[in-house]
Amino acid sequence: MKKLIAGNWKMNGSKDESRALIAAIVNELSQDEAILDNAEILVCPPVLYLGDVRHALHGYPSVVFGAQDVSLYDNGAYTGDISAKMLKDAGCSYVILGHSERRQYHGESDADIKVKAEKVLAQDMVPVICVGETESERDAGEQEAVVAKQLKGAIPELKPHENLVIAYEPVWAIGTGKTASPQDAEAMHSFIRSELKSLVSAPNSVRILYGGSMKPENAKDLLGQENIDGGLIGGASLKADAFLSIAKSA
Ligand code: PEP
Repeated sequence: MKKLIAGNWKMNGSKDESRALIAAIVNELSQDEAILDNAEILVCPPVLYLGDVRHALHGYPSVVFGAQDVSLYDNGAYTGDISAKMLKDAGCSYVILGHSERRQYHGESDADIKVKAEKVLAQDMVPVICVGETESERDAGEQEAVVAKQLKGAIPELKPHENLVIAYEPVWAIGTGKTASPQDAEAMHSFIRSELKSLVSAPNSVRILYGGSMKPENAKDLLGQENIDGGLIGGASLKADAFLSIAKSA
């Protein structure tokens, strides 16, 4: 299984900056296509710039793109929402769900994330479900219980052909420069893998990404762990060279 290297651009940049970033990614990749032997590259720009990213990737299917959230609803009077069908229409292959920033600032619950994941799967896209404990939960030794509860609450029942990605993102490591040690990350990923056994029929085919201040300096050690199948990268995904240097570590 190739590692999935996913960039979460969050609410950063402008139209011009998004165009320049995707152009730089394509340009660097076309000069070093060997990166793609071991890594699948995913970028998740602000939804408004999906069309620009799609345009830039036309004829370059090696990089896929996705969204950072989706509506709970299919269509209708939900001002500001964007449905799974619209994201599919825009060419998305993946949708990030339940990022800790959405849980924190938009009050998203595991039950919401489950409904969203079902909408995403119904459109033949892949949900990337984010889980992870806060610093105080880790200090209290509750990280496994927290993550187990999130997985149980957010993962929908999968049909045999459906695909799912889990991103383990310890909240204390997101955007802080603090990273889980490769050993701590691997311990949690292996725990997640074993929890998946009772939740999905093919736990070994679910990719489990690590996210939380992944950068070129620590990517190799993290991605070298047995149960770390890729990375969800925030800050370092906004610079093509840093992002692709992480992909190269795969
Ligand atoms: C993220 O927000 O998904 C993330 C991992 O951010 P950062 O890499 O900046 O910690």
